[in-house]
Amino acid sequence: MDRKKLVEFKNVSFQYEEEGALVLNQVSFEIYEGEWVAIIGHNGSGKSTIAKLLNGLLMPKDGEIVVDGQKVDDDTVWDIRKDVGMVFQNPDNQFVGATVQDDVAFGMENRGIPREEMRERIQRTLSAVRMQDYLITEPHRLSGGQKQRVAIASVLAIAPKVLILDEATAMLDPTGRKEIMHTVNDIQESEGLSLITITHDLQEIVQADRVIVMNKGEIWEETTPRELFLQRENLREIGLDVPFVAQLTDELMKQGVELKEAALN
Ligand code: ADP
Repeated sequence: MDRKKLVEFKNVSFQYEEEGALVLNQVSFEIYEGEWVAIIGHNGSGKSTIAKLLNGLLMPKDGEIVVDGQKVDDDTVWDIRKDVGMVFQNPDNQFVGATVQDDVAFGMENRGIPREEMRERIQRTLSAVRMQDYLITEPHRLSGGQKQRVAIASVLAIAPKVLILDEATAMLDPTGRKEIMHTVNDIQESEGLSLITITHDLQEIVQADRVIVMNKGEIWEETTPRELFLQRENLREIGLDVPFVAQLTDELMKQGVELKEAALN
């Protein structure tokens, strides 16, 4: 397979405090161009820390992170942030503009993108998330789902190579969640983006190409949604509770054909 490697974690360890416990311990994985990888694991297993390390909000204590061939360090961090876009759980903490279009423009202004191109990207990204009719709306007037769409457009406007959604749909209802993920999936496929979703949402896990399961700061398993189903008994051991596992089973059952294949392997 000659797909391009976009993200590499090489034996990455991290702790928040000098004398504190290791929050990540020798974590290694790779993500390829155009791939959708879901990261799951119980609370505190290190998922958000991985996301923050990926765009240089945090720096590894040990090991190396490479994004599109460039090692993440203090000198490269601003370049890296052009490549790695992040959307978090609460859209209210992510707005900086007085209107929707100002908000989408903000990240581009910081990166010196010419005005004409900015206008074009605002149109394109807001259309992609179906928010093109809200250019001059004040963000606080939008619904939760609409806010998350704008947050995603703002990140897409800086044309990242990797998009990370850290529980970005957690505050939405199931319909809102489905809609956002449908939109993101479309954009991901048309723009060849790599997508990393940190999530409890089963739909997002089932649709991903691969799943990384975190446990106590280490990778417990790197697998596919189908294989994850076959190991459902083991998931309980690492604190992913019974409802979660049962729902995962149901969700995969709906995709009966794939499951039959998995059962044969
Ligand atoms: P997850 O996203 O899987 O819930 P996190 O990466 O947020 O896990 O957290 C991993 C561990 O790091 C947890 O034990 C958490 O308490 C700790 N942690 C997270 N953020 C900080 C911080 N800013 N300062 C100190 N400890 C932190």
